[in-house]
Amino acid sequence: MLLKSLEIQGFKTFPDKTTLSFDHGITAVVGPNGSGKSNISDAVRWVLGEQSTRVLRCTKMEDVIFSGTPVRKAQGFAEVTLNIDNTLRQLPFDADNVAVTRRYYRSGDSEYLINKVSVRLKDINELFMDTGLGRDGYSIIGQGKIDSIVAARSEDRREIFEEAAGISRFRYRKEESERRLNQAEDNLLRLRDILTELQ
Ligand code: ATP
Repeated sequence: MLLKSLEIQGFKTFPDKTTLSFDHGITAVVGPNGSGKSNISDAVRWVLGEQSTRVLRCTKMEDVIFSGTPVRKAQGFAEVTLNIDNTLRQLPFDADNVAVTRRYYRSGDSEYLINKVSVRLKDINELFMDTGLGRDGYSIIGQGKIDSIVAARSEDRREIFEEAAGISRFRYRKEESERRLNQAEDNLLRLRDILTELQ
């Protein structure tokens, strides 16, 4: 799957709108220590729905918003858009370009969009399921990731193989169906109680 470009605004070290275009082949980012190289991969994780502040290397979600410098005032929101080439329909979405956007305000309000249409986080998670790119995917190998895979419990490690084999989607659907079935059974139980009371 080709990541075409990444648009970052107000996210960590990027107060101004910055567009990074990725071509075919390898893209390398070089720069001095602390200049914001890892913040680019954080932006990719974040737009894909990452919820863990630890993974995003901050203490609270608000920390992803540009916090200002002695000469620049802080921003009120952070926004990242990832443009993906979907001509091969690797994502289950019928468009040649899929633009996924996440926006987060200091007030705590947040928004996810797919091709400028507001969606739920659940839709983003489902879009990337089984592609290896999603929140729990294996495409972004950060520092310590290999160690954690090696040390992981075998059940957790199995999830990585399931994602690669393209069967995460089915496990997810099975769990969803089981949850709905349980809910329906609870509702039936409640209904029976009410009926007994009325008789
Ligand atoms: P290294 O080569 O040492 O790994 P790096 O180039 O990967 O460094 P990053 O870790 O991406 O650098 O960026 C760290 C910098 O980002 C720090 O200077 C930190 O102050 C800055 N930073 C992080 N969050 C924010 C924020 N919300 N607002 C402004 N700056 C931020």
